[in-house]
This record gives sequence, structure tokens and C-alpha cells, in this order.
Amino acid sequence: MLALVLSQWLTTSQIRRITGAKVYEDKVIYRGKVARYEYDDVVSYGGKVFPLQKRWKGKKLYVRADQLAPLLIHMGGSWMWDAAAKRFFRGKPNIRFLMGKVGDGYRITITSKSGKYRVSEGEDSIAVVVRGLYGKFWRIVGDGNFVSVVKVIQYRDSTRFVIHLGARANGYTVAERRGTLRINISKLQPKRAERITVVIDPGHGGKDAGAVGNGYREKDINLSVALKVAALLREKGYRVILTRSKDRYVSLYSRARLANRSGAHLFVSIHCNASRDPNASGMETYFLSESRTSQERAVAILENSAIRYDIGFVEPKEPVGAILGDLLQNLLLEQSYRLAMSIHGTALEMALAKDRGVKQAGFYVLKWVMMPSVLVELGFITNRREAKKLANGKYQDRLAKAIALGIEKYIRKQQGGK
Ligand SMILES: [Zn+2]
Repeated sequence: MLALVLSQWLTTSQIRRITGAKVYEDKVIYRGKVARYEYDDVVSYGGKVFPLQKRWKGKKLYVRADQLAPLLIHMGGSWMWDAAAKRFFRGKPNIRFLMGKVGDGYRITITSKSGKYRVSEGEDSIAVVVRGLYGKFWRIVGDGNFVSVVKVIQYRDSTRFVIHLGARANGYTVAERRGTLRINISKLQPKRAERITVVIDPGHGGKDAGAVGNGYREKDINLSVALKVAALLREKGYRVILTRSKDRYVSLYSRARLANRSGAHLFVSIHCNASRDPNASGMETYFLSESRTSQERAVAILENSAIRYDIGFVEPKEPVGAILGDLLQNLLLEQSYRLAMSIHGTALEMALAKDRGVKQAGFYVLKWVMMPSVLVELGFITNRREAKKLANGKYQDRLAKAIALGIEKYIRKQQGGK
């Protein structure tokens, strides 16, 4: 149920515990210097994104100075954070960082006017120190297959990119030509199913019952269906991680963190819907979208992002309102949409429920997850007939089968199969 998912948001007190520089709603004051951020509603630190709420207006929020670096992307202008000296400075970005698919592989190009690169090659990661300033993002989300994430550390006159390879990266070559560093990442040859990890996330649990209706609790149905989906996927050789496998409370952020740390490829959250209208019924599948982004804009991004598959390069958006959510949206929106379509389409083919469509919403659990992710609303617990069906073991088997099959179809397509 959407409302309940959104209500599990962080409280002001959780942010207040952190001390250091002063962060106001529209500016940061650090060592007497004032920096404003262009975004008036989002603040991020330590890898987490938090909304600034209206009720905090005028109140001081505190964050630790060394965790302010991510805030800089919200400040706009030329403020950067020197990770060595631990201080702000003004600088002009002069490094270009691009990545994207090229043919069968993946390519990263780093261009700096200085043309000076130092590369340390590791087994699962590549560290590149470049003379010059990047200053855009502190973290760039990869496609999940070749590159999981690129961490960016900014210094006074150099930038360090740490490229963490994804589960399908086989090997890589590094070459420099005319001042541009090229890293070509090749694909893992055998497409073995067991290398694919899927996170199944049964919504709610423990103290959080989720939606309740007709004598049923959402958390129980979610868990039951999720366990069935997990069993089916494991049978097919996939690695499956459940965010909970019994009736216990797990915070939304912990669910996302578990998924991100496991190096999973897909995230599927399972929920039941609720409505004041007792006749509302049917299945809905959601994928991530900024809650404040209009449907039209999202569709436009979707249309535009298809181009990168053909041409090869992905340039992260300019930091005009660049937040982690936007990055995720850029890089993962299309994949999440495809995953949603695959699951939803399969469920409808199996004539399971009334089609309420594939939709978009700013589910926070999806927002934090750095992989293609969807949220399935199996049906309405508030509809007497549907609730009864949802609690029925046989119907749950069919739902689970459809979801597992939808996931598998998506994976096969991603792997270039039929
Ligand atoms: Zn729910």
C-alpha cells in the first residue's frame, strides 16, 4: 500500500543526532562560509537521500563536516570539497567522464585537459587518479552488469575515480590516446543463471502489518507470495536474497542497503493494495520515478534514454538538480520499466487479475536501490473477493509463478537471448 510505504520516512530527530556544520533549508554554513543549494527539498549525506520538510523551515539541521561532500552537488555553482584537506574550495570542472555500452562490452572514457592519469588495476575495481576537477557527482551509478558504481573522490587539483566492476564484467583493458583514457570492459562469456542475483522484498512485516482488510494482513500475503517466488527462482538456479523470510520488521533503508551490498541485479518488492472503494481490484506494477516528476517528463526520459543503447555512451545529466534519484532515474529507469512490463505482462497473460497498468511513483525503497527495481501490488486486500483470492495458497502459487517467469523473461532479454 503506497501510503504506508511513504509514511515510514525518517524523522527529524534521526537527522539531528549528527553534528557539525550548520545546514539550513536553503544553505550550508561551514567555517563562516555560506553555500546555498539549488535543490530546496533534498539533502544527502553518507549515501542517503533525505527530503527537507516544510516543518523544518527555520530550524537548524546538523551534519558532520566530512559528510558534507555529497551536499555539494546540491549547492550548484563551483563549490567542491577537498577530501584530503577536508575543506571547501571553488573550482571549475574540467574532466569529462562518460560510460556506456559499446557493442558487446562497456566503455568508460575519462578526458582531462591535463592528460595526466594514474591507473591502479585491481581484480574487481579500477582506480584512476586524474589531474583536474570533476566536481559533479560523488557517486555514479553503473548499469549493474559491467559497472556497479563509480565512487568519485575530489581533491584540490585531482580527482580519483574508483570504478567497481559489476557481476558480468569479465576483464578490461586500459589505454590512453590523445589525452583520453579509455577503459574497455568485456563481457563474461558463459551466461550462467547462478550468477544472477535477485532480491525479493516482501513488503512490511513485524510491527508494520501493511494494509489490513477483510480479516487479512498485507504483510502475511506479501511474505507468503515472496517465499514462493524465491523458491521458484532458486529452482531455476538463480541466487535469491529475501529482505525478510519471516514476520519481522525491516526498515525500508535496510532493505535497500541489503540489496545494494549483495551485488544483486534485480529488486522486486511485493505488496498488496488498499482502497476506500471496496470494489477496487486488480494488479499494478510500479517502477521508480521521482514523485515530483510529471508523467510526461518521465516518458520523455524513457524515450531519450533508449538512444544510449544504440550509440553507446551515457553522459550523466548536468548537475541541474542532479540528485541521486535523478541519476538512478537516468540509468535505471528504462531497465526498471522493462522489468515492470515483463512481470506485469506475464501476470496478465496468465489471466490472474484485472489490469490496472504499469505505473510510476516515488517509492523510497526503490529510490535507494541501485539496480532495476519494481514494486508489485498483487491486488486489493480491501476488496472482499480479491482478498480471499490473495490469501488462497493456490492463487498465491499462480501469482508467484507469474512473477518468477516475468523476472526470468526479463533476465533472458537482458542477456541478449530471446
Ligand atoms: Zn504495502
